[in-house]
Amino acid sequence: MRTRREFLQKITYSAMVLPLLPSWQFGSFRIDNEPYDGPVLRVAIMGLGGYGTRVAQAMKACKKAKLVGVISGTPAKIKEWQSKYQIPEKNCYNYENFDDLKNNPDIDAVYVITPNALHHDQVIRAAKAGKHVICEKPMGLNAKEGEEMVRACKEAKVKLLVGYRLHFEPKTLEVVRMRQNGDFGKILFFQGQCGFRIGDPNQWRLDRALAGGGSLMDIGIYAVNGARYMVGEEPIWATAQEMKTDPVKFKEGVDETILFQLGFPSGAVSSCLSTYNMNNLDRFFLNGEKGFAEMQPSTGYGPIEGRTHKGTFTQQHVTHQTIQMEEMASIILEGKEPIISVDGEEGLRDLKIIDAIYKSCQTGERVELV
Ligand code: NDP
Repeated sequence: MRTRREFLQKITYSAMVLPLLPSWQFGSFRIDNEPYDGPVLRVAIMGLGGYGTRVAQAMKACKKAKLVGVISGTPAKIKEWQSKYQIPEKNCYNYENFDDLKNNPDIDAVYVITPNALHHDQVIRAAKAGKHVICEKPMGLNAKEGEEMVRACKEAKVKLLVGYRLHFEPKTLEVVRMRQNGDFGKILFFQGQCGFRIGDPNQWRLDRALAGGGSLMDIGIYAVNGARYMVGEEPIWATAQEMKTDPVKFKEGVDETILFQLGFPSGAVSSCLSTYNMNNLDRFFLNGEKGFAEMQPSTGYGPIEGRTHKGTFTQQHVTHQTIQMEEMASIILEGKEPIISVDGEEGLRDLKIIDAIYKSCQTGERVELV
């Protein structure tokens, strides 16, 4: 039996240590400094660019996920990452030889963080090498690609997840919880405004061959995806209008600004803006018969801020990519069901809506989604 003294010592220790911990809670787990000896998802990152670097950094705080490998076209980056993350030579690949992953039992999953147009082939090759795949948004360039990716991963019996980090973000989940609880009453309207003013005209994001489009593929997708998880329904129609102020920077097939509307089975509607031409545009607004939620910023790396008709959010900020990777490890290793899905079907639903938005921009017609 524990003595009172041992008990008090433990309390004092906890009280001393707690404020020092990266102590946030989500669902059933908590990342702290307690030792963890459960299963760990061993991840190789493909594409060591801006976002890959952020994910790698954030994964250092994970207990259930660990960066153990890299796939890159830049040998100098591989060397740098090897020394920064203690990555052995046998876990380093390039875009030509990464099919050899099938002979590497020390890597469980590949996280594809390359330009959009490369996702389709890279995901399918990683799946064929027998690895689970996490793929950045947009999962592919269109629904056809998405369907092929989902099918390939099913056939290879590996999981396909999409890097929808906000699906694990505590304030976002609080809005979803309140909606499910009926706190907003019948949902009537969602507004998603997502954009930034894009710089360097020579970057891949402005090259249709690599980006597959423009602002909608890159940033507007947050409003597409957000409309679905905020309203809690799948849209049945889309209408959209495209505007371009700079046809030199935003060439044919690279959208600068798109306004789009989605209609839902309950009668709820959403009105969204996607742009590469305005800063400070990161806002979600959900309106129901009994209340509202307002988030600004709503999709950036955070902290996400905002309020509902019941008051301001009190949930603690967490590093999005840390909680995402911790949760994705649980999904892959333990079969955990996330509150908002992040699987390939989820990525595919967004691609179908993006196809419909582009089609509506071209035809001027309303596009039915069912
Ligand atoms: P970067 O340009 O910063 O990095 C992309 C990396 O991909 C490059 O550094 C390079 O890495 C590799 N690559 C392979 N082939 C090419 C090529 N032909 N042209 C350019 N790069 C190539 O892009 P980001 O990291 O910002 O974006 C990558 C993906 O991540 C995109 O799909 C984007 O939508 C997504 N993303 C998601 C975010 C989120 O919050 N979920 C945020 C930002 C981006 P190497 O030299 O190692 O081969």
